[in-house]
Amino acid sequence: MITLRKGLLSVVLCLLLLLIAAGAAMAQKPTRVLIVTMDQMRPEYAKQFDMTNMLWLQNHGAHFNKAYVGQMASETVVSHNTIVSGLFPKHMGWSDEVMRDTDNVLGYGAGAIVTTGDLTYDQYVLLIESKGYPKLGDYMHKAFPGSIVANFGEKKYQVESTAASSSDYWAYMGSKYNTVALPDPSVLPWVGKYRGPEGWVGGTTGESKVPSYIASDPRFMISSGNSTDAYGTTVDKPAYLYPEDGRYAPGAYPDNLSGDAWVADAAIKVMENEEDWSAIHLNFSGIDKIGHMWGGGSVDTEANYHWDPTTLLDQIHMPFIAKNADNQLGRVIAKLKDLHQWGETMVVVLADHASTYAEKAHYVDAAGGGNLSWYYDPNNVAANTAYGRAGANNDSVLAPLNATGNLAYSYQSTAVEAWLIDRGWSKKLEAAEATQTLPDVLATYVKWRDEYVLVSRSATMTVAERTWWRNHGQELVDTMASNAAPDVVGLLKNRTSYGVYGDHGGAQRDVQRIPMVMYAEGMQHVVRGTPFRLVDVMPTVLRAMGIPQMAPMDGKAYHLPIH
Ligand SMILES: [Zn+2]
Repeated sequence: MITLRKGLLSVVLCLLLLLIAAGAAMAQKPTRVLIVTMDQMRPEYAKQFDMTNMLWLQNHGAHFNKAYVGQMASETVVSHNTIVSGLFPKHMGWSDEVMRDTDNVLGYGAGAIVTTGDLTYDQYVLLIESKGYPKLGDYMHKAFPGSIVANFGEKKYQVESTAASSSDYWAYMGSKYNTVALPDPSVLPWVGKYRGPEGWVGGTTGESKVPSYIASDPRFMISSGNSTDAYGTTVDKPAYLYPEDGRYAPGAYPDNLSGDAWVADAAIKVMENEEDWSAIHLNFSGIDKIGHMWGGGSVDTEANYHWDPTTLLDQIHMPFIAKNADNQLGRVIAKLKDLHQWGETMVVVLADHASTYAEKAHYVDAAGGGNLSWYYDPNNVAANTAYGRAGANNDSVLAPLNATGNLAYSYQSTAVEAWLIDRGWSKKLEAAEATQTLPDVLATYVKWRDEYVLVSRSATMTVAERTWWRNHGQELVDTMASNAAPDVVGLLKNRTSYGVYGDHGGAQRDVQRIPMVMYAEGMQHVVRGTPFRLVDVMPTVLRAMGIPQMAPMDGKAYHLPIH
């Protein structure tokens, strides 16, 4: 009797194993990943601006409809390296637009204050190697030896920080040239300044990482820096704080489209020329630029008007630019289908941070005021930029903080962050108390080892502010806490900005809540309300692709079943 049951058990076990094996044979794990970051996109834009490709992905893939950045600072140059590493900023080497290089990794001297967005490619590599962590490209090269990993976007610091230490190819829109430098004026349909694709290792004279089929294609030259490339945004308020320069709107030249079309075309070129590409990361920055100029999510500014589509003015407003970003996503997807790569590719579409607008504005209201307001360098200490030098900027609004005589540098957007000269405990408390007196500060924290300690909170929070802050305030500031990070942080109230009209950087719900969707053929369609964060992207992608983690990550590997 016992023998018989054992025999039955064996038969059942064998059948089970066969079933599991059959299931495994049917499951096609993706062998490529396409990550598209819609820079500064708020989740509601998908429906609001009829982003049909994004909506299709949400209706067929894994849609995380309560996703949020999950860290600070909520900024491009920080978020992108998290997306491709799965690490919190405190483990990355930089946490913000500004950093203190405590260990002299960059060679400016121990403790030098450095602006992160102005670092070179080589400097990002130094910071990454000082922490010794693998990134997307390292995983893809290990899993698919010899495969190509590429990054494209409009902005230098975005592309370089994402590519640093692990990508094979990358390109961004290079610096402006004048007419004298035009290589062959007959190939371009305009007379004036242009930008071409750039991507260098070792400064502009080093090795180019722009694939030759992109570098040599005149399509990738764009008109930029000419007076017509601004569409009036250098004078129109509030856009003039951080105006368009030709890099983000598609422009007037159909064979040399700028903005997200340029980025999509670069991706399409790689797909056509590199059969064995394994990862492509794209940053579409059009939404980001328009959000900075007119305010992300604002209901009462020009951003929500449909301009006459027969004029180029339509291009510098959100309805056009969001739809355009989605159209470019659609073109890249169509190319994947053309090449029969759609069934092998996992697609991730997300934002690096979202956006709010300044009902409560505390910036320098002047043309080009953004760089004057974000950065404050009262003692001219920054090692690699001249932004925010004393007298040019927020001297008045930041006066109480500067009056302590202990401010080395501060960066302010939708949070205020201060790096101090004397970092003794009582001096940190003094700076936090001064920060709490600044306008519309919600709560202040000081850094203590690998966390932040709450020092004060506003007595006048709204219910919405209090609810979000109670759930996320401490969690978000703690993700920054490293030697590089600010000594004092002031979180700001909703719809408050110290930088430009439309801004991000802080802990507010408006800048933290982001779109997040993942899709691969055969992936089970789910809508999940779990609080998915940027650190969860890498572990979740690797799990779906069946690639083991080589190093610890701060994120969680969500299981996305593929049948
Ligand atoms: Zn961004």
